[in-house]
Amino acid sequence: MSEKKKIKVVTPLVDIDGDEMTRIMWQMVKEKLLFPYLDLSLEYYDLHVKHRDETDDRVTIEAAEAIKKYGVGVKCATITPTAERVREYNLKQDWKSPNGTIRAILDGTVFRTPILVKNIRPTVLPWKKPITVGRHAYGDIYSGAEMRIEGAGRVELLFTPADGGEPVRKTIHDFSEPGIVQGIHNTDASITSFARACFTFAWDRRIDIWFSAKDTISKIYDARFREIFDREYEQNWKDKFTEAGLTFFFTLIDDAVARIMKTEGGFLWALRNYDGDVMSDMVAAASGSLAMMTSVLVSPHGWYEYEAAHGTVQRHYYRHLRGEETSTNSMALIFAWTGALRKRGDLDGTPEVAAFADRLETAAIETVESGIMTGDLLAVAEEAPGNRKVSTEGFIDAIATNLARKMA
Ligand code: NAP
Ligand code: MG
Repeated sequence: MSEKKKIKVVTPLVDIDGDEMTRIMWQMVKEKLLFPYLDLSLEYYDLHVKHRDETDDRVTIEAAEAIKKYGVGVKCATITPTAERVREYNLKQDWKSPNGTIRAILDGTVFRTPILVKNIRPTVLPWKKPITVGRHAYGDIYSGAEMRIEGAGRVELLFTPADGGEPVRKTIHDFSEPGIVQGIHNTDASITSFARACFTFAWDRRIDIWFSAKDTISKIYDARFREIFDREYEQNWKDKFTEAGLTFFFTLIDDAVARIMKTEGGFLWALRNYDGDVMSDMVAAASGSLAMMTSVLVSPHGWYEYEAAHGTVQRHYYRHLRGEETSTNSMALIFAWTGALRKRGDLDGTPEVAAFADRLETAAIETVESGIMTGDLLAVAEEAPGNRKVSTEGFIDAIATNLARKMA
């Protein structure tokens, strides 16, 4: 397309580059699928593990700050350094997970949605539309305190008010033999921002929202989550939802798990931290491949960060370094870009940008449905004579050909 005819994205998009195989695909996606059609200005932050190391991880903080400034970012997968990675890349230290750092700055909730294609049937047969899992990524067992109890004795909860008021105690258990205990917490503020992020997400997509917990058993802890969701709904969403014919549905977690197997999908399932951890893996597995799972961090302040749910695909990268051909799936990375572009278009009031995102997604889905796919998908797709495994680059090229036809 001539420069004049390219679709203008008016606000810069925050582009956060990453590592290994996803870094290679990141470049290809931009060059082959985006730059030919978009007049796009990118605020580029290079989170390659070596560059994070050189900047003492400042670049990660700067990337998060840029998302705050511009509102929308798109992130490639990044290495979370371990002792092994520190040796491999000769790093100064094992820097924190970039996703953890960015999430802490943006204060968000992570939503994961599978990409569905006709020739890969979900393992759960009634599922026709994607189920998004919204996981509260704060507190509970992920920041709990645990103790091994060696013998007889009493374990209590003790609250010591900071203002010098009377301490409050409650017995957890009078042990007569060895055992274990665990203490967990959450805060009203975090639960409220989780609820807000969930309603915002469901509203943006005009989908129903389910929330499930176990408030019949946990009459204070889980019940507090339910109260806050109810309050948020009544105060800020009920009118809009009712008018749009959307529902907010609370049901016990065990009931939800049973019901979900019989639904068509197409809604947001908001879950507490542990439930979301477990159920998002179940939804991903039932949908075919990790490379078909998209992920977006939505902050209650209205900032968005789009990414693929998978990592840097290290094993494929090493194969690539040895000069072998790879067949790595770029679907979730492409959908990270389309998600970010569609949101940018919505915020800027430029429907042609959102329409481009739709076309690119359709081109990608139709490529897989025509039988052209990467190895991970071929293994789970319905058998058909036209099915053909292509390389990492071959897959992006096939999508580019399809897209060119749509844009002509
Ligand atoms: P991974 O990169 O998600 O890959 C695990 C396996 O899943 C791959 O070996 C591959 O299986 C399959 N797979 C994942 N994505 C694929 C794709 N796009 N196409 C085809 N197959 C795909 O997880 P990992 O190997 O455990 O982690 C590698 C690095 O990623 C680590 O350094 C970790 O810190 C980082 N990580 C980053 C993020 C993030 O930035 N959001 C998330 C998770 C992990 P086969 O080898 O069987 O083909
Ligand atoms: Mg999990």
